Amino acid sequence: MTADRAASEAVSEAATPLRLLIDTEALAANWRWLARKAGQAECGAAVKANAYGLGASVVVRRLIREGCRDFFVSSWLEAAALGPLPNEVRVSVLHGVQASDMKLAMQVNARPVLCSPDQVARWRGVDRVCDVMVDTGMNRLGLSPAQAAGGLLEGLRLDTLHSHLSCADEPAHPLNRQQRSLFAGLVAQVAPRRSALSNTAGLCLGADYAFDLARPGLGLYGGIPHPALRGVLSPVVHVQGRVVQIREVLAGEAVGYNATFIAATKRRIAILNLGYADGLPRAIAPVAKAQVRGLECDIIGRISMDLTAVDVTEQQTVAEGDWVTIAFDLAAAAEVCGRSQYELLVGLGPRFARVATR
Ligand SMILES: *Cc1c(COP(=O)(O)O)cnc(C)c1O
Repeated sequence: MTADRAASEAVSEAATPLRLLIDTEALAANWRWLARKAGQAECGAAVKANAYGLGASVVVRRLIREGCRDFFVSSWLEAAALGPLPNEVRVSVLHGVQASDMKLAMQVNARPVLCSPDQVARWRGVDRVCDVMVDTGMNRLGLSPAQAAGGLLEGLRLDTLHSHLSCADEPAHPLNRQQRSLFAGLVAQVAPRRSALSNTAGLCLGADYAFDLARPGLGLYGGIPHPALRGVLSPVVHVQGRVVQIREVLAGEAVGYNATFIAATKRRIAILNLGYADGLPRAIAPVAKAQVRGLECDIIGRISMDLTAVDVTEQQTVAEGDWVTIAFDLAAAAEVCGRSQYELLVGLGPRFARVATR
């Protein structure tokens, strides 16, 4: 039995009313596809925010088996939470290092992505490797190009010089080319050991965006930030809840808050134990299906905080306690919900047991 199987079986059904099935084979296949897309460049993985809500420990360990060697987290706490990793694995902390991080930074085997002159000064006294972020037009994190090229980095044990694209998911946006060429010029001046620019969508902009190292996140987890990835990357997260109660609803009766669903004919309804508190937005209902005992059923009425009604009239054998998968296309759901695919993934709440499958 694999460790993943053992872990999933150890989670008893009784103690687990909700689960996110994490398809680690799909995750691995997505990484392999993006790594091929990166061509000569190495391919890392953004695992900040607990690997976009999937569970960073499981994701990192599976991707190490595929050959991934570079991981990106936001904070030193996230780096520490990964626990001990093999020596050849590199963890970069995207927020750099604040004074209040220094104590933990001395104990954790990770490097900061320095992004301000203060951070550079702070790390100068530490005889350890670092990365550096340079801002090429997003105005989020990073040194200015003038700072990076003006000698500020001399004497640092610089591994990777990073920048980040602000519009990679809009392939025609002029900022992509501007950022790329500004960054290429800086790489030539600073001459770091490695350079890194692209997230998932950036890898779809062309080989000249790959540089030495890619930092995909969303695509690993089944998100589709660029049309070229549709049908190529596979869903990784499967949302599951359980039937709390089955009821008959007569023609003319209403279901749920505000009586938004009125039964036209007699219906058999299953009430599931999850809702918007678990990250299932009310607006998702039209594009989500409940899969139970091999049948697809509609979500009806309003999704409540932790209850959702589905029509199981065509599936008379559904019973209390049955597991139900809520299936939805991440991109379509983002569209109808007015949220990004990122928000939907990280919004899947703490009540789910994360269970690695396969
Ligand atoms: C989150 C993040 C990524 C990953 O971006 P995706 O769009 O999820 O692929 C890459 N680089 C940086 C700096 C990030 O903050």
